[in-house]
Amino acid sequence: MEILHVSAECYPMAKAGGLADVVGALPKYQQSLGHIAKVIMPMHRTKFLYDNEWVIEHKGSFGMGESRFDFTIIKEQSNKLGFDLFCVDIYGLLDREKIYGYNDDTERFTAFQIAVMEWVAQWEHRPDVVHVHDHHTALIPFMMQHCFAYRHLAAVKTVLTIHNAQYQGWMGWDKSIYLPAWDTWKGGLLEWNDTINPLACGVKCADKVTTVSPGYMEEIKNNANGLEFLFNLEGGKCSGIINGIDYAVWDPQKDTYILDNFSTKDVEEGKQLNKKKLCNDFGFDISLPLFVFIGRLVGEKAADLLPVAIKLAFEQMYGQFSFLILGSGDPGVEFSLLEMQNKLVGYYNTQISYNEKLSHQMYAGADFLLMPSRVEPCGLNQLYAMRYGTVPVVRRTGGLQDTVIDFGDENGYGICFNQASVGDILHGMYRAVELFNDENKLTELRQRMMKVETSWEKSALQYIHLYLSI
Ligand code: ADP
Repeated sequence: MEILHVSAECYPMAKAGGLADVVGALPKYQQSLGHIAKVIMPMHRTKFLYDNEWVIEHKGSFGMGESRFDFTIIKEQSNKLGFDLFCVDIYGLLDREKIYGYNDDTERFTAFQIAVMEWVAQWEHRPDVVHVHDHHTALIPFMMQHCFAYRHLAAVKTVLTIHNAQYQGWMGWDKSIYLPAWDTWKGGLLEWNDTINPLACGVKCADKVTTVSPGYMEEIKNNANGLEFLFNLEGGKCSGIINGIDYAVWDPQKDTYILDNFSTKDVEEGKQLNKKKLCNDFGFDISLPLFVFIGRLVGEKAADLLPVAIKLAFEQMYGQFSFLILGSGDPGVEFSLLEMQNKLVGYYNTQISYNEKLSHQMYAGADFLLMPSRVEPCGLNQLYAMRYGTVPVVRRTGGLQDTVIDFGDENGYGICFNQASVGDILHGMYRAVELFNDENKLTELRQRMMKVETSWEKSALQYIHLYLSI
């Protein structure tokens, strides 16, 4: 089969979160299963763009509302990622440093989707599946079926994968003029709660809809930022496929970002050396358990609970653990986390940044990774932590519930709690500190979690079966 993935992010070209990791890995594994998988994304101005050679694949132009845009499709020349990577350049709209967060994101991503359609519409053949990811690309199934210019693509099958249902790309009806001429009888497909809702439209129009874990699929039937009824209604074509991790990028035996490579055979020694480096860098005591948090500092990740929970944990267990945070997001949370720094020198540090290298060093050197998430569609951090022998301390929700077994249960290796609350976080941390003092148990758990199969192989095959079913 020939599969075209359409996404706003793809690692290592541009990454804001887990979406990039998935779109950077899944196509590679689909290729290795004997299929042709391609990725098309916006041409963000990133280091990867400038570090690599590109060739022009196609040039075109289209109208959007009252504007006309020229666009260029470029292709990475050396097949560096193991699949063909294409980027859409629209001068003044897509060629920016950040992936999201601009006032004209609606215009940017609508234009991106139109450019993708214009490109695919003039292919001499048709792809077997167009696989779109999240709301930034979720209007494509509608465009393929109901925009007159692309109707010859209506028979091409479409799959929408939802990496996060909280963000839906809402746009007012005044912006409907951005869409290429469409069959106005079908306007209902665009709508949810009186606005154009691209994610809802994707759920209605795609042949199949997936979420990135089975647990999250069940959860969004009750909690999906207004789309609960829709997910119940369309349940028949919806399923959850758990994300894998890219073993070529996340392998403690080969990771070039970390100080000392290790495997299950020398995990204790390897982690100790990596921990030493982290502790030296941040002035921590290596003999204490080291907790880390890596991720967006937003409500979904329950980052707002961290300042209070950490403050209380230090009040009750001062001198018994260290805590390192890497992330950025809500300015209020950033401020509260930074504010505690002066009072807890030698035990606590927050890095407000996006730092791929440090994140790898933290997975390798930490003892515990805390994820108290309110919402976690899959969560990749806990999978990386497990692969690097770091005990995940997680709230039982979405993909976390599907991937982490509490060490008190059969074959368990993690620490789980039920509520995204300060009390539950503290309880998880107490259990972690206690576990740290039981060296034999900790070694046993590390061995066990590092052997858990989390590669993309199985999940990539599940996507292939899904495509075959349509
Ligand atoms: P999200 O909801 O943000 O997509 P995931 O757990 O699915 O959460 O994926 C998060 C990915 O982003 C992981 O690869 C994680 O290591 C990475 N990440 C998040 N924040 C940072 C940061 N500040 N620096 C480096 N990597 C980060």
